[in-house]
Amino acid sequence: MRLPRHAYRAALFAALAALAAPAWAGKAHQHGVAQLDVAVEPGRVTLDLQTPLDGLVGFERVPRTDAERARVDAALAKLRDAAALFRIDGAAGCKLAQVTLNAPVLGLTPTGTAAPAAPAKGEHADLDGRFEFACKADAKPAFVEVGLFEAFSGMKRIELQLVLPRGQMKATLARPATRVALAR
Ligand SMILES: [Zn+2]
Repeated sequence: MRLPRHAYRAALFAALAALAAPAWAGKAHQHGVAQLDVAVEPGRVTLDLQTPLDGLVGFERVPRTDAERARVDAALAKLRDAAALFRIDGAAGCKLAQVTLNAPVLGLTPTGTAAPAAPAKGEHADLDGRFEFACKADAKPAFVEVGLFEAFSGMKRIELQLVLPRGQMKATLARPATRVALAR
């Protein structure tokens, strides 16, 4: 069956919109594997991370002990220090503009903090992070060095989705690699 041209275009746009959905939309939860979307736009680089909490702190529930709370604090400090975690090609002149972390189990919501919300029994828990960098208007960053493996020993692989001026592509970063090419 051939679709009328306008129906075909509508289906195509729906597919593109689905590709552009933010990382918050929810992807497969697999321990050791993080999802990272990298979007390069004029004057801006945005990274959306989604990872099982297990990969950051080794558990997926409300922290119970001082040691667990300390582990959470250390992980969040590393994520908030995003310019060290995501080292963008210096020629692009990028500066960290904003970090947004969302992990209800740790009491973090996109708009601030809240009481920690325990996951339902048997459920897993993720952390979502958005890291926004402001760059030179005509910046064409050639790469970003991703420091997630150095920072978090529980992370083994990162599934990347790159949204670049030239188009979209998928890639995989496996320990111990760090460099993601952006100019291709
Ligand atoms: Zn899990």
